[in-house]
Amino acid sequence: MRAATVIAFDQPIVVRDRRMIAPGPGQVLVRIEASGLCHTDIHAARGEWPVTPRPPFTPGHEGVGIVHELGRGVTDRKAGERVAVPWLGSACGMCEYCVSGRETLCETQVNTGYGVDGCHAQWAVADARYVVPVPEGVPAMEAAPLTCAGVTTYKAVKVAGLRPGERAAIFGVGGLGHLALQYAAIFGAETIAVDVTDAKLRMAGGLGADHTVNAAEHDPVEKIKGLGGADVAIVLAADPRVLEQAHASLRRGGRLVLVSLPKDDTMKLPIFETVLGGISVIGSIVGTRADLAEVFRLHAAGRTEVMYETRKLDEINEAIEDVLSGRVDARVVFEL
Ligand code: ZN
Ligand code: ZN
Repeated sequence: MRAATVIAFDQPIVVRDRRMIAPGPGQVLVRIEASGLCHTDIHAARGEWPVTPRPPFTPGHEGVGIVHELGRGVTDRKAGERVAVPWLGSACGMCEYCVSGRETLCETQVNTGYGVDGCHAQWAVADARYVVPVPEGVPAMEAAPLTCAGVTTYKAVKVAGLRPGERAAIFGVGGLGHLALQYAAIFGAETIAVDVTDAKLRMAGGLGADHTVNAAEHDPVEKIKGLGGADVAIVLAADPRVLEQAHASLRRGGRLVLVSLPKDDTMKLPIFETVLGGISVIGSIVGTRADLAEVFRLHAAGRTEVMYETRKLDEINEAIEDVLSGRVDARVVFEL
């Protein structure tokens, strides 16, 4: 089988043949059809986060494919069904977080493409309990970006407690932001897209953003305050300065939702404005299996549009360069 493999953090990813894998007890073997490239894969491949994966490993946690074989003891999945293999590869199922619908906070979770081999490969094995069925009629290439970018932004909108009639600003309109905008609109908000490239803002406009702000040309705080301020600001850009702008663009009672993980780990938080304005600062990490099922249902119902570019797995290093240099407007999805 072909698999993208990280050999060392300072070397390009190698796409090579490796021995075929088999499902262990409780696992399914999935023939991957589509695998989305997430920024986390790039951090993983370069060992950029405090806890690094152990090479050699295969990144990828937006895998979608067909269940081919069931491991011993698997009864709730069947061969031939299309499933998504998300970041939350498995969790304990028993801790206070797991039993209270907060499994993404489980302290013993194992992450796909990080703690175990992921989906940038022709085949993947996954914990049968943590794969999520993809509804009939949702193509694999569209399901892939929803598996991380979709569920992550959907969850961010949910934890923000966004209500109809509120104003939501989305900072960073790429693979995640174009979906965040659509979810904010589904929740009934007036939406503001903030980015530094016109192509992405045009995409945002095409997807129904009520306002767009080019932060390279205008001060986004001034622009958003001019509209009355944001009730919710969701930050998807990996730059602490953007977090500070997002905070400053909020109205009283506003909620700042942190999603991106900048290499530079700290932001400046103005205490007076936060206290007097009753501002909430919220961290949001991916989403649960139930959240992903909702994301798929919305897409199957025609409520969302997924923007992506198709690439070959052999082009993974070029794709990473393109993402890092901002040449990709939405999501890169490898076709397998
Ligand atoms: Zn991801
Ligand atoms: Zn747990």
